[in-house]
Amino acid sequence: MASVPSTMKGVIIETTGGTEVLQYKTDLPVPSPGDGQVLVHNDYVGVNFIDTYFRTGLYPAPKYPYILGRESEGTVVKTGSGDLYGLQEGDKVVMLSEGTYAEYTAANAAKAVKIKSGLEAKIGAAALLQGLTALTLIREAYPVKKGDWVLVHAAAGGTGLWLVQLLKAVGANIIGTASTQEKVDLATKAGEGNITMINYSKDDVKSKVMELTNNAGCVAIFDGVGKDTFDLSLECLARKGSMVSFGNASGAVPPLPIARLSPKNARLLRPTLFGYITTREEFEHYVDELMDFVTKDKLDVRIHETYALSDVARAHNDLEGRKTTGKLLLDPSK
Ligand code: NDP
Repeated sequence: MASVPSTMKGVIIETTGGTEVLQYKTDLPVPSPGDGQVLVHNDYVGVNFIDTYFRTGLYPAPKYPYILGRESEGTVVKTGSGDLYGLQEGDKVVMLSEGTYAEYTAANAAKAVKIKSGLEAKIGAAALLQGLTALTLIREAYPVKKGDWVLVHAAAGGTGLWLVQLLKAVGANIIGTASTQEKVDLATKAGEGNITMINYSKDDVKSKVMELTNNAGCVAIFDGVGKDTFDLSLECLARKGSMVSFGNASGAVPPLPIARLSPKNARLLRPTLFGYITTREEFEHYVDELMDFVTKDKLDVRIHETYALSDVARAHNDLEGRKTTGKLLLDPSK
Protein backbone atom coordinates (compact mmCIF):
# COMPACT_ATOMS: atom_id res chain seq x y z
CA MET A 1 0.00 0.00 0.00
CA ALA A 2 1.42 3.37 -1.05
CA SER A 3 1.99 5.73 1.85
CA VAL A 4 -0.55 8.49 2.35
CA PRO A 5 0.80 12.01 1.73
CA SER A 6 -0.01 14.92 4.05
CA THR A 7 -1.45 17.19 1.34
CA MET A 8 -3.73 16.64 -1.63
CA LYS A 9 -5.53 18.19 -4.58
CA GLY A 10 -9.13 19.23 -4.00
CA VAL A 11 -11.83 21.77 -4.73
CA ILE A 12 -13.17 24.00 -1.99
CA ILE A 13 -15.67 26.81 -1.70
CA GLU A 14 -15.31 29.57 0.89
CA THR A 15 -18.41 31.44 -0.20
CA THR A 16 -21.43 30.85 -2.43
CA GLY A 17 -21.89 31.98 -6.01
CA GLY A 18 -21.17 31.08 -9.62
CA THR A 19 -18.41 28.78 -10.79
CA GLU A 20 -15.87 31.49 -9.91
CA VAL A 21 -16.16 30.43 -6.24
CA LEU A 22 -14.78 26.95 -7.04
CA GLN A 23 -11.17 26.95 -5.86
CA TYR A 24 -8.86 24.20 -7.09
CA LYS A 25 -6.10 23.63 -4.51
CA THR A 26 -3.06 21.40 -4.48
CA ASP A 27 -2.16 21.73 -0.82
CA LEU A 28 -5.25 20.75 1.15
CA PRO A 29 -4.61 18.64 4.24
CA VAL A 30 -5.39 14.94 3.78
CA PRO A 31 -8.10 14.11 6.34
CA SER A 32 -7.71 11.41 9.00
CA PRO A 33 -10.38 8.71 9.22
CA GLY A 34 -12.25 8.93 12.53
CA ASP A 35 -14.78 6.68 14.25
CA GLY A 36 -16.72 4.66 11.67
CA GLN A 37 -14.68 6.13 8.81
CA VAL A 38 -12.26 4.89 6.18
CA LEU A 39 -9.82 7.03 4.20
CA VAL A 40 -10.45 6.51 0.49
CA HIS A 41 -8.14 7.46 -2.35
CA ASN A 42 -10.64 8.59 -4.99
CA ASP A 43 -10.14 7.33 -8.55
CA TYR A 44 -13.31 8.86 -9.99
CA VAL A 45 -15.74 11.33 -8.50
CA GLY A 46 -19.38 11.80 -9.52
CA VAL A 47 -20.70 15.27 -10.29
CA ASN A 48 -24.33 15.79 -9.28
CA PHE A 49 -26.74 18.68 -9.45
CA ILE A 50 -26.70 18.83 -5.65
CA ASP A 51 -23.06 19.97 -5.84
CA THR A 52 -24.23 23.07 -7.68
CA TYR A 53 -26.85 23.74 -4.97
CA PHE A 54 -24.11 23.83 -2.30
CA ARG A 55 -22.02 26.06 -4.55
CA THR A 56 -24.85 28.55 -5.17
CA GLY A 57 -26.10 28.45 -1.58
CA LEU A 58 -29.52 26.97 -2.45
CA TYR A 59 -28.50 24.34 0.11
CA PRO A 60 -26.34 25.74 2.94
CA ALA A 61 -22.87 24.23 3.34
CA PRO A 62 -22.30 22.93 6.88
CA LYS A 63 -19.01 24.88 7.16
CA TYR A 64 -16.42 26.86 5.19
CA PRO A 65 -14.06 26.11 3.62
CA TYR A 66 -16.13 23.23 2.28
CA ILE A 67 -15.04 20.47 -0.09
CA LEU A 68 -17.87 19.74 -2.52
CA GLY A 69 -18.88 16.30 -3.82
CA ARG A 70 -21.16 13.46 -2.72
CA GLU A 71 -19.91 10.25 -4.37
CA SER A 72 -16.81 8.48 -5.65
CA GLU A 73 -15.09 5.19 -6.27
CA GLY A 74 -11.59 4.44 -5.08
CA THR A 75 -9.44 2.44 -2.71
CA VAL A 76 -9.42 2.28 1.08
CA VAL A 77 -5.92 3.41 2.13
CA LYS A 78 -6.41 3.75 5.88
CA THR A 79 -9.01 2.63 8.40
CA GLY A 80 -10.42 4.51 11.37
CA SER A 81 -11.89 3.02 14.53
CA GLY A 82 -15.27 1.45 15.29
CA ASP A 83 -17.58 -0.53 13.02
CA LEU A 84 -16.26 -0.33 9.46
CA TYR A 85 -18.64 -2.93 7.98
CA GLY A 86 -15.75 -5.23 7.18
CA LEU A 87 -13.86 -2.72 5.04
CA GLN A 88 -10.07 -3.06 5.01
CA GLU A 89 -7.08 -1.34 3.47
CA GLY A 90 -6.81 -2.20 -0.21
CA ASP A 91 -10.55 -2.67 -0.75
CA LYS A 92 -11.93 -1.07 -3.92
CA VAL A 93 -15.09 0.74 -2.89
CA VAL A 94 -17.88 2.89 -4.20
CA MET A 95 -19.40 5.33 -1.74
CA LEU A 96 -21.67 8.22 -0.90
CA SER A 97 -19.82 10.75 1.19
CA GLU A 98 -19.34 14.46 1.57
CA GLY A 99 -16.02 15.91 0.47
CA THR A 100 -15.31 13.79 -2.60
CA TYR A 101 -14.01 16.60 -4.88
CA ALA A 102 -10.52 15.66 -3.67
CA GLU A 103 -7.84 13.02 -3.95
CA TYR A 104 -8.71 11.61 -0.51
CA THR A 105 -11.95 11.50 1.49
CA ALA A 106 -12.55 10.40 5.07
CA ALA A 107 -15.79 8.56 4.34
CA ASN A 108 -18.54 7.11 6.49
CA ALA A 109 -17.99 3.33 6.15
CA ALA A 110 -21.74 2.76 6.50
CA LYS A 111 -22.26 4.36 3.08
CA ALA A 112 -19.40 2.53 1.31
CA VAL A 113 -19.46 -0.91 -0.27
CA LYS A 114 -16.88 -3.07 -1.98
CA ILE A 115 -17.08 -2.90 -5.76
CA LYS A 116 -18.26 -6.18 -7.24
CA SER A 117 -15.59 -7.98 -9.22
CA GLY A 118 -15.95 -7.46 -12.94
CA LEU A 119 -17.40 -3.96 -12.71
CA GLU A 120 -15.48 -1.69 -15.06
CA ALA A 121 -13.66 1.36 -13.73
CA LYS A 122 -15.83 4.50 -13.51
CA ILE A 123 -19.14 2.59 -13.48
CA GLY A 124 -19.47 2.61 -9.69
CA ALA A 125 -18.97 6.36 -9.39
CA ALA A 126 -21.23 6.94 -12.37
CA ALA A 127 -24.01 4.71 -11.09
CA LEU A 128 -24.36 5.08 -7.39
CA LEU A 129 -26.07 8.36 -6.53
CA GLN A 130 -28.25 8.82 -9.59
CA GLY A 131 -28.99 5.09 -9.93
CA LEU A 132 -30.02 4.75 -6.29
CA THR A 133 -32.12 7.89 -6.60
CA ALA A 134 -34.02 6.52 -9.59
CA LEU A 135 -34.40 3.09 -8.02
CA THR A 136 -35.72 4.33 -4.68
CA LEU A 137 -38.08 6.75 -6.43
CA ILE A 138 -39.72 3.98 -8.46
CA ARG A 139 -39.79 1.55 -5.53
CA GLU A 140 -40.75 3.84 -2.65
CA ALA A 141 -41.95 7.29 -3.72
CA TYR A 142 -44.39 5.66 -6.11
CA PRO A 143 -44.05 1.87 -6.49
CA VAL A 144 -44.35 1.65 -10.25
CA LYS A 145 -46.23 -1.28 -11.73
CA LYS A 146 -46.23 -2.81 -15.20
CA GLY A 147 -48.48 -0.81 -17.50
CA ASP A 148 -48.47 2.39 -15.40
CA TRP A 149 -48.26 5.63 -17.37
CA VAL A 150 -45.47 7.75 -15.88
CA LEU A 151 -43.89 11.06 -16.89
CA VAL A 152 -40.15 11.68 -16.52
CA HIS A 153 -38.77 15.19 -17.01
CA ALA A 154 -35.17 15.66 -18.18
CA ALA A 155 -35.27 12.05 -19.37
CA ALA A 156 -31.83 12.26 -21.03
CA GLY A 157 -30.12 13.63 -17.93
CA GLY A 158 -28.09 11.59 -15.46
CA THR A 159 -30.97 10.61 -13.18
CA GLY A 160 -33.41 10.68 -16.09
CA LEU A 161 -31.63 7.97 -18.08
CA TRP A 162 -31.64 5.77 -14.98
CA LEU A 163 -35.35 6.35 -14.47
CA VAL A 164 -36.06 5.51 -18.09
CA GLN A 165 -34.09 2.26 -18.04
CA LEU A 166 -35.44 1.10 -14.68
CA LEU A 167 -39.03 1.99 -15.64
CA LYS A 168 -38.58 0.04 -18.85
CA ALA A 169 -37.38 -2.95 -16.83
CA VAL A 170 -40.54 -2.70 -14.69
CA GLY A 171 -42.70 -2.53 -17.82
CA ALA A 172 -44.09 0.98 -17.37
CA ASN A 173 -45.38 3.18 -20.20
CA ILE A 174 -42.92 6.05 -20.08
CA ILE A 175 -43.42 9.56 -21.37
CA GLY A 176 -40.18 11.54 -21.28
CA THR A 177 -39.33 15.17 -21.89
CA ALA A 178 -36.10 16.73 -23.15
CA SER A 179 -35.03 19.99 -24.75
CA THR A 180 -33.24 18.84 -27.93
CA GLN A 181 -33.56 16.22 -30.64
CA GLU A 182 -30.24 14.66 -29.61
CA LYS A 183 -31.57 14.17 -26.07
CA VAL A 184 -34.87 12.86 -27.40
CA ASP A 185 -33.03 10.26 -29.50
CA LEU A 186 -30.85 9.18 -26.60
CA ALA A 187 -33.73 8.69 -24.18
CA THR A 188 -35.80 6.97 -26.87
CA LYS A 189 -33.01 4.44 -27.29
CA ALA A 190 -32.71 3.94 -23.52
CA GLY A 191 -36.42 3.24 -23.15
CA GLU A 192 -36.96 1.55 -26.51
CA GLY A 193 -40.33 -0.15 -26.77
CA ASN A 194 -41.73 1.53 -23.64
CA ILE A 195 -41.15 5.23 -24.19
CA THR A 196 -42.59 8.20 -26.05
CA MET A 197 -40.35 11.24 -25.92
CA ILE A 198 -41.54 14.85 -26.18
CA ASN A 199 -39.20 17.60 -27.31
CA TYR A 200 -40.62 20.35 -25.09
CA SER A 201 -38.83 23.06 -27.09
CA LYS A 202 -41.14 22.21 -30.00
CA ASP A 203 -44.18 20.34 -28.73
CA ASP A 204 -46.80 20.93 -26.06
CA VAL A 205 -46.20 18.47 -23.23
CA LYS A 206 -49.66 18.52 -21.66
CA SER A 207 -51.60 17.87 -24.85
CA LYS A 208 -49.27 15.04 -25.82
CA VAL A 209 -49.56 13.44 -22.37
CA MET A 210 -53.35 13.67 -22.51
CA GLU A 211 -53.41 12.23 -26.03
CA LEU A 212 -51.21 9.27 -25.04
CA THR A 213 -53.09 8.53 -21.81
CA ASN A 214 -56.58 8.90 -23.26
CA ASN A 215 -57.07 12.05 -21.17
CA ALA A 216 -56.38 10.20 -17.90
CA GLY A 217 -52.96 11.75 -17.22
CA CYS A 218 -49.99 9.98 -15.61
CA VAL A 219 -50.27 8.04 -12.34
CA ALA A 220 -46.80 9.22 -11.35
CA ILE A 221 -44.65 12.14 -12.37
CA PHE A 222 -40.94 12.19 -11.62
CA ASP A 223 -39.91 15.84 -11.74
CA GLY A 224 -36.32 16.82 -10.98
CA VAL A 225 -36.56 20.09 -12.91
CA GLY A 226 -38.54 21.86 -10.18
CA LYS A 227 -39.68 25.46 -10.53
CA ASP A 228 -40.19 25.56 -14.32
CA THR A 229 -42.16 22.30 -14.61
CA PHE A 230 -44.09 21.98 -11.34
CA ASP A 231 -47.37 23.51 -12.58
CA LEU A 232 -47.18 21.58 -15.84
CA SER A 233 -46.57 18.37 -13.91
CA LEU A 234 -49.69 18.87 -11.78
CA GLU A 235 -51.67 19.42 -14.98
CA CYS A 236 -50.36 16.14 -16.42
CA LEU A 237 -51.16 14.14 -13.28
CA ALA A 238 -53.96 11.57 -13.17
CA ARG A 239 -56.68 11.56 -10.52
CA LYS A 240 -55.17 10.03 -7.35
CA GLY A 241 -51.75 10.36 -8.97
CA SER A 242 -48.37 10.79 -7.24
CA MET A 243 -46.47 13.99 -7.97
CA VAL A 244 -42.86 13.21 -7.08
CA SER A 245 -40.89 16.44 -7.01
CA PHE A 246 -37.28 15.44 -6.35
CA GLY A 247 -35.08 18.30 -7.48
CA ASN A 248 -34.47 21.92 -8.40
CA ALA A 249 -32.50 21.95 -11.67
CA SER A 250 -34.42 25.10 -12.74
CA GLY A 251 -34.79 26.47 -9.21
CA ALA A 252 -36.73 25.53 -6.08
CA VAL A 253 -40.49 25.05 -6.28
CA PRO A 254 -42.13 27.95 -4.42
CA PRO A 255 -44.44 27.16 -1.48
CA LEU A 256 -47.95 26.25 -2.58
CA PRO A 257 -51.39 26.13 -0.95
CA ILE A 258 -52.18 22.54 -0.01
CA ALA A 259 -55.64 22.96 -1.58
CA ARG A 260 -53.97 22.76 -5.00
CA LEU A 261 -53.84 18.99 -4.49
CA SER A 262 -57.61 18.66 -4.01
CA PRO A 263 -58.92 18.70 -7.60
CA LYS A 264 -57.17 15.40 -8.33
CA ASN A 265 -56.83 13.97 -4.80
CA ALA A 266 -53.13 14.12 -5.62
CA ARG A 267 -50.25 12.87 -3.52
CA LEU A 268 -47.27 15.24 -3.38
CA LEU A 269 -43.84 13.97 -2.34
CA ARG A 270 -40.54 15.76 -2.02
CA PRO A 271 -38.16 12.86 -1.26
CA THR A 272 -34.39 12.72 -0.93
CA LEU A 273 -32.33 9.64 -1.62
CA PHE A 274 -30.77 9.69 1.83
CA GLY A 275 -34.20 9.32 3.46
CA TYR A 276 -34.59 5.96 1.69
CA ILE A 277 -31.11 4.59 2.44
CA THR A 278 -30.68 5.77 6.02
CA THR A 279 -29.91 2.37 7.56
CA ARG A 280 -27.10 0.08 6.43
CA GLU A 281 -29.70 -2.55 5.63
CA GLU A 282 -31.60 -0.17 3.31
CA PHE A 283 -28.36 1.01 1.69
CA GLU A 284 -27.10 -2.54 1.02
CA HIS A 285 -30.49 -3.66 -0.23
CA TYR A 286 -30.71 -0.94 -2.86
CA VAL A 287 -27.01 -1.09 -3.84
CA ASP A 288 -27.38 -4.84 -4.43
CA GLU A 289 -30.51 -4.35 -6.52
CA LEU A 290 -28.91 -1.53 -8.49
CA MET A 291 -25.73 -3.49 -9.21
CA ASP A 292 -27.83 -6.46 -10.32
CA PHE A 293 -29.54 -4.17 -12.82
CA VAL A 294 -26.14 -2.97 -14.04
CA THR A 295 -24.47 -6.36 -14.30
CA LYS A 296 -27.33 -8.76 -15.08
CA ASP A 297 -29.74 -6.51 -16.99
CA LYS A 298 -26.76 -4.77 -18.64
CA LEU A 299 -28.13 -1.27 -18.14
CA ASP A 300 -26.18 1.35 -20.03
CA VAL A 301 -24.32 3.61 -17.62
CA ARG A 302 -23.74 6.57 -19.89
CA ILE A 303 -20.76 8.75 -19.05
CA HIS A 304 -20.98 12.18 -20.62
CA GLU A 305 -17.36 13.16 -19.93
CA THR A 306 -14.61 12.63 -17.39
CA TYR A 307 -13.23 16.07 -16.50
CA ALA A 308 -9.93 16.83 -14.78
CA LEU A 309 -10.59 17.94 -11.19
CA SER A 310 -8.90 21.23 -12.09
CA ASP A 311 -11.55 21.65 -14.82
CA VAL A 312 -14.43 21.43 -12.35
CA ALA A 313 -15.86 24.84 -13.32
CA ARG A 314 -16.44 23.62 -16.87
CA ALA A 315 -18.21 20.53 -15.53
CA HIS A 316 -20.57 22.69 -13.44
CA ASN A 317 -21.15 25.07 -16.35
CA ASP A 318 -21.96 22.19 -18.69
CA LEU A 319 -24.36 20.57 -16.20
CA GLU A 320 -26.17 23.79 -15.35
CA GLY A 321 -26.16 24.84 -19.02
CA ARG A 322 -28.13 21.68 -20.03
CA LYS A 323 -25.25 20.63 -22.28
CA THR A 324 -24.88 17.15 -20.80
CA THR A 325 -26.49 13.74 -21.10
CA GLY A 326 -25.79 10.99 -18.58
CA LYS A 327 -23.09 11.22 -15.92
CA LEU A 328 -20.26 13.70 -15.40
CA LEU A 329 -17.18 12.41 -13.60
CA LEU A 330 -14.07 14.12 -12.23
CA ASP A 331 -10.59 12.61 -12.26
CA PRO A 332 -8.89 13.83 -9.07
CA SER A 333 -5.40 12.91 -10.33
CA LYS A 334 -5.58 15.69 -12.92
P1 NDP B 1 -29.31 16.13 -15.07
O1 NDP B 1 -28.23 15.39 -15.76
O2 NDP B 1 -30.71 15.62 -15.18
O3 NDP B 1 -29.28 17.62 -15.59
C1 NDP B 1 -30.37 18.48 -15.39
C2 NDP B 1 -31.31 18.51 -16.60
O4 NDP B 1 -32.48 19.21 -16.23
C3 NDP B 1 -30.75 19.28 -17.79
O5 NDP B 1 -29.91 18.52 -18.61
C4 NDP B 1 -32.02 19.71 -18.49
O6 NDP B 1 -32.49 18.71 -19.38
C5 NDP B 1 -33.04 19.82 -17.36
N1 NDP B 1 -33.36 21.23 -17.08
C6 NDP B 1 -34.56 21.80 -17.31
N2 NDP B 1 -34.53 23.09 -16.96
C7 NDP B 1 -33.29 23.35 -16.53
C8 NDP B 1 -32.65 24.55 -16.07
N3 NDP B 1 -33.32 25.72 -15.98
N4 NDP B 1 -31.35 24.48 -15.72
C9 NDP B 1 -30.69 23.32 -15.79
N5 NDP B 1 -31.24 22.16 -16.21
C10 NDP B 1 -32.54 22.18 -16.59
O7 NDP B 1 -28.91 16.32 -13.53
P2 NDP B 1 -28.92 15.22 -12.35
O8 NDP B 1 -29.30 13.90 -12.88
O9 NDP B 1 -27.67 15.37 -11.58
O10 NDP B 1 -30.09 15.77 -11.43
C11 NDP B 1 -31.42 15.84 -11.92
C12 NDP B 1 -32.31 16.32 -10.80
O11 NDP B 1 -32.42 15.29 -9.85
C13 NDP B 1 -31.78 17.56 -10.07
O12 NDP B 1 -32.84 18.40 -9.75
C14 NDP B 1 -31.21 16.96 -8.81
O13 NDP B 1 -31.20 17.86 -7.74
C15 NDP B 1 -32.20 15.84 -8.58
N6 NDP B 1 -31.70 14.80 -7.69
C16 NDP B 1 -32.36 14.64 -6.51
C17 NDP B 1 -31.97 13.69 -5.62
C18 NDP B 1 -32.74 13.51 -4.38
O14 NDP B 1 -32.29 12.79 -3.48
N7 NDP B 1 -33.91 14.11 -4.24
C19 NDP B 1 -30.77 12.87 -5.85
C20 NDP B 1 -30.19 13.06 -7.16
C21 NDP B 1 -30.63 14.01 -8.04
P3 NDP B 1 -33.30 19.20 -20.70
O15 NDP B 1 -32.33 20.05 -21.47
O16 NDP B 1 -33.70 17.99 -21.41
O17 NDP B 1 -34.48 19.99 -20.16
